[in-house]
Amino acid sequence: MKIGVLALQGAVAEHIRSIEAAGGEAVAVKRTEQLDELGGLIIPGGESTTIGKLMRKYGFIDAVRSFSAQGKPLFGTCAGLIVLAERIEGQEEAHLELMDMTVARNAFGRQRESFETDLPVKGIDEPVRAVFIRAPLIKEVSSKVDVLSTYNGEIVTARQGHLLACSYHPELTDDYRLHAYFLSMAEEAAAAKQ
Ligand code: GLN
Repeated sequence: MKIGVLALQGAVAEHIRSIEAAGGEAVAVKRTEQLDELGGLIIPGGESTTIGKLMRKYGFIDAVRSFSAQGKPLFGTCAGLIVLAERIEGQEEAHLELMDMTVARNAFGRQRESFETDLPVKGIDEPVRAVFIRAPLIKEVSSKVDVLSTYNGEIVTARQGHLLACSYHPELTDDYRLHAYFLSMAEEAAAAKQ
């Protein structure tokens, strides 16, 4: 199963390493034509305004929307979660507008700019190691969205069908289970097509 990591800005190499460690094949995606060969796409952490701007510039907004419309899985981590959201608190414009949720950027405040924790995630047996860096939170979700984990009562992992999003950086740890989870989403989507 080939998974792409959107390589316009952000933590690309780490996601490639994690997908490979989880048993998949991973490629850095810089051109929209590459999407055709993929079974799933990861939108990494970084800076969501920059990633959104570059996605517009290189035609990725429409291309990724049609990738998603084919039922192919997307996984947004940290800034990537913001890019997937339909609504961003305090901003007029969102980016891909694919997941029916409202997100708040930099939601942990100064004292907690970055931290690590072990986070129970629905569908994964033991808690997942999660690194939060100027992380966003999911403030509100529609009934289409399944909440997979919360931290202090706030939503930090969510799934809407073939779309997966988390507030933190699973790729900065040696815990590959969230990548394995995403790989199985991609395998299931590919099997459903046959
Ligand atoms: N604070 C960043 C943003 O709003 C996200 C941080 C991250 O991806 N680590 O885009």
